[in-house]
This record gives sequence, C-alpha cells and structure tokens, in this order.
Amino acid sequence: MRPVSNFRDAMTSHIMPTYGRLPITFERGEGAWLFDQDHNRYLDALSGIAVCNLGHAHPAVHQAICKQSEKLLHTSNLYGIGVQEQLADRLIEKSGMENVFFCNSGAEANEAAIKLARKFGHEQGIENPAIIVMEKSFHGRTLATLSATGNLKIQQGFAPLVTGFVRVAYNDIDAIEQVLEQHDNIVAVLVEPIQGEGGVNIPATDYLNRLRSLCDQHNVLMMLDEIQTGIGRTGKFLAYQHNDIIPDVCTLAKALGNGVPIGACLARGKAAKVLTAGNHGSTFGGNPLACSAALAVLATLDAENLIEQAAEKGDAICSKFAQQLHGNTHVVDIRHKGLMIGIELDRPCTELVPAALQQQLLINVTSEKTIRLLPPLIINDQQITQLVEILSALIHQHTDTHVS
Ligand SMILES: *Cc1c(COP(=O)(O)O)cnc(C)c1O
Repeated sequence: MRPVSNFRDAMTSHIMPTYGRLPITFERGEGAWLFDQDHNRYLDALSGIAVCNLGHAHPAVHQAICKQSEKLLHTSNLYGIGVQEQLADRLIEKSGMENVFFCNSGAEANEAAIKLARKFGHEQGIENPAIIVMEKSFHGRTLATLSATGNLKIQQGFAPLVTGFVRVAYNDIDAIEQVLEQHDNIVAVLVEPIQGEGGVNIPATDYLNRLRSLCDQHNVLMMLDEIQTGIGRTGKFLAYQHNDIIPDVCTLAKALGNGVPIGACLARGKAAKVLTAGNHGSTFGGNPLACSAALAVLATLDAENLIEQAAEKGDAICSKFAQQLHGNTHVVDIRHKGLMIGIELDRPCTELVPAALQQQLLINVTSEKTIRLLPPLIINDQQITQLVEILSALIHQHTDTHVS
C-alpha cells in the first residue's frame, strides 16, 4: 500500500478506537469515484454503506444545501418548519404511509418505532409489551436498538440489555406465528425486508405478504426497518413495494440525505395516532438543512429515473458476475435485489476488503463469507465492467486452492 501521510493509526489518533479503519483517507468524491490526497482514484462500490445513493458531490444536493444555508439552518421543533412539512408530504406520497417523525440516524428512527410499539401496547392495557425481532438482524447501536439486534458481538459488554424483545429465525413465518400464539404481550414485529449487515439475506418472495396477514390477524404492528433497503436501493422506492403491501411503521435513514444525517419513522393507520405531544422529540430532528438535502435526493431519484436504473443495473452486474465466476465451485451464491448485492463464498473472505483497496476498489464483507456491494445508483457501464472484472479476479485468486 502506498504511504498515506494523513492517515493516523489507533496509536496516534485522538479519536476513540471504536472502528477498525482501513489505512486510507479520502479528500474528494465525484459520482462513483473517490480521490485520496495524492489524486488516486478509487471506485466506490459501497456508497458509504448505502448512504450516497446519488454518488458523491451530487450537484442537486450541493445546491440544495448551499441555498438552504443562506436562509436558515435550524430553528428547533418549537416552531413550524416549512421544508420539514414538504419532505413529510413527499415521503407520504411515495410510501403510502400517513405521518412522519424526523430524527438524525437509523438507530434513532428505530428507537422511535420501538417507543411507538410499546405505547401502542400500553394503550391496550398490555403492561409488559414485547416486540418480535429476528436472528442476524441489525437495528443500530443505541441500547434499545442493540438489544433488538440479533448479533451477540454487538451486545457483548453492554448488559443489562433492554428487555421486551423475543427473537425468532429470519424468513420463518411459522416461528413468528408460534410466538404470537404463545404470548399475549406481543405488540409488534420489527424486521428488515432484506438483512443487510446479517449477510444480504433475501427472504422468500411472499414473506412480507404473509407477515402482513399475520400482523393483521393478531392486531400487532408490522414494522419494517428500511434503513438500508430504502430510497431506491432495491429497485423500488421502498423494498416493501415489491410485495404490494404497506407496513404500519417504516424506518428510514442512510440514503435519505445522501450523506447529510437524517432519519425518519413513518407510521400509518392505528400506528399514526400513537405518539402525541410530549411523547418523543429531537433537537436537530427534521431541521431545515437536513430536510432540504432529502428533498433534493427525492427530486433527483425521479428526475434521473434512478430507481428503475437500480433494478436494471443490479441485474446487469449480477449476470456479469455469474458469467465471470461461472465454474468456481467456491462461490456459493450470487444474490441481489436491485443494487443490494451479496456474493457468498464457501470460506471467510474479509481479506478481500484490503485486497480490493489495493486495486482501488471499495467493497465490504458481512457475516465473514459474504461480499456485500452497495454501489451508487448512478454507477455507469464502464464502472460496472471495472467492478466486475477486478472483483471476479480477486475472488478467483482467493478461492484458488492450487499453488501455482
Ligand atoms: C445502518 C442501519 C441501522 C443503523 O443506522 P445508524 O444511522 O447507523 O444508526 C439500522 N438498521 C439497518 C437495517 C441499518 O442498515
């Protein structure tokens, strides 16, 4: 690796060492490219973990932020906020939900959903409400959301955890039905339409439809964590739109602001009436700066037809990978919905991340054996070819058991 003078390792940095960082620092971005201080160009196939869906330095977002900052950045939720109203209108239109609580991150959006579910239960006289959550799920790093998360590594060292979660296997409707029949205090089911951190796990095509019916039968809230799958990533604005259903609660963050921090908890029907004045709040939540960025994101998705492109490009990338990796028996599965892509190997492959960085390609590996790709929706044909060629070669090298 070429020396990078402005990267500081854990020994010299004054930042708490909560992240295992790769030894690289970026100065600038443009579309799917990132540049380091020496002007070396990297292909970003991760989009800052599904955040920069429009690519880096998108002019529409840049202009929206600049214009808003000339007028007003923050007034607090003690007053009306025009751009927050506009953003809520747009989100409602595009989602089929009814109202929105704005916050600043994914974890906060899920915190709002969890509080909403508990209050929904209390209003029906359930004093110890519980929420069904999934194995291998990821919902954030705050106390309630890490307790909801199905990963012991994330929970380790932080006991006592928040109680009130019952865990079942992902993609197992019968398991959910059993819990609903055995417990009388279940108020909601919280689930990702596709598990991201858990390994790009795509459930059966009718999973969400069956879950919708089950939640209706038992009068519990269907709460979808669309923080990673939302905002066009999977080829629909929201992943549940592949199933023609609408949940009761839906959480968003990541790509909503294309890098400007914003989260949202959307509700509908009985769920839309639960949280009232004084129940929840956030100083920064839905401030004019973040909302103007998000409005620009939504307008650009439509103007550039990016959601349809996510579907087409995802199919194109995966059929190219299928060709390039054909015959490699160590590739267990290539799966995707739109531009949420997982390539599962029969062995651990975390070393592929630094190996790809050496070749100026940014990728990710989740749950040890699955390469996760979340390229920006604006990725072009040449970049797609480059991505598939570099990564396929690395996969062949990594799985080649013969010493040459
Ligand atoms: C990233 C993510 C979160 C947490 O979002 P933060 O903004 O990091 O708090 C929650 N749920 C899912 C599915 C995510 O991918």
